[in-house]
Amino acid sequence: MAIKREGEVIVMDCGEGVQRRVLSESLGLGGDMTILITHLHGDHVTGLLGLLQTMSLAQRRKPLNVVGPTKLLRWLEVTADLLHIGLTFPVRFSAARPGVLLRTGSFRIRAARASHSIEAFSYVVEELRRPGVFYPEKAIALGVPEGKQWSRLQKGKPVTIGGRKVDPAEVTGPPRPGRKIGYSGDTRPSAGLVRFFSGCDLLIFDSTFSGGDRDKAVERKHSTSIEAAELAKKAAVRQLALTHFSARYTTVSSLVREARRVFPNTIAASDGLSIEVSYPA
Ligand SMILES: [Zn+2]
Ligand SMILES: [Zn+2]
Repeated sequence: MAIKREGEVIVMDCGEGVQRRVLSESLGLGGDMTILITHLHGDHVTGLLGLLQTMSLAQRRKPLNVVGPTKLLRWLEVTADLLHIGLTFPVRFSAARPGVLLRTGSFRIRAARASHSIEAFSYVVEELRRPGVFYPEKAIALGVPEGKQWSRLQKGKPVTIGGRKVDPAEVTGPPRPGRKIGYSGDTRPSAGLVRFFSGCDLLIFDSTFSGGDRDKAVERKHSTSIEAAELAKKAAVRQLALTHFSARYTTVSSLVREARRVFPNTIAASDGLSIEVSYPA
């Protein structure tokens, strides 16, 4: 899974085959990228090393942000050492812990503890605030000519007209909140996660089991589609994408159906699916 915004990419977990997806979806091997790893189970991490090696083959130079449990760094260092892997770029590692972890060019990244069989984290990727709505009539009234000066003001930068400084706040509304995407990783639902994901525009949540298999979900520390929907409802998110389905279900349509009875705006994530996250109204 990846979030793509104006050249910046956030990859969420690295299952096997992630590098093929990075290539086929044209996410770029050399650009601004942050990788968020929720926990050290194979289906979430085994693709990371191959991705790093492919980036090196492509002569990546830019630092790569990697966020994950502390042991992830150890795994990377030991494996790189044993396999004589030298990278062409620095890895900037941030150890996951609850709270704000990182600010990138476009996003702020926060983590919370998930409730899984090993140490695991959930992440919220929040777009930084956008400048407010631009009012052309106010700019005209202040004598700012249309063109370059307007676009400067729209980007939140001041301009000088006839020796007088015009501040963006004079011609725009208050800054607007950015979009917010939540990713649970593997977890049981919890009150903490309801708060953590509150108001997300898109929530991607563990839906390993159907509602009828709740005992298995409890035992293996995963969630059911109904539990994911209940959490989405309590957290008042705008859209829910179910993911991480158990291979026991040949089709996931019944999981989506039962979730929709609780939270109507639910879809099933699938390979190659692309979702455009709109701004809140
Ligand atoms: Zn797991
Ligand atoms: Zn998993």
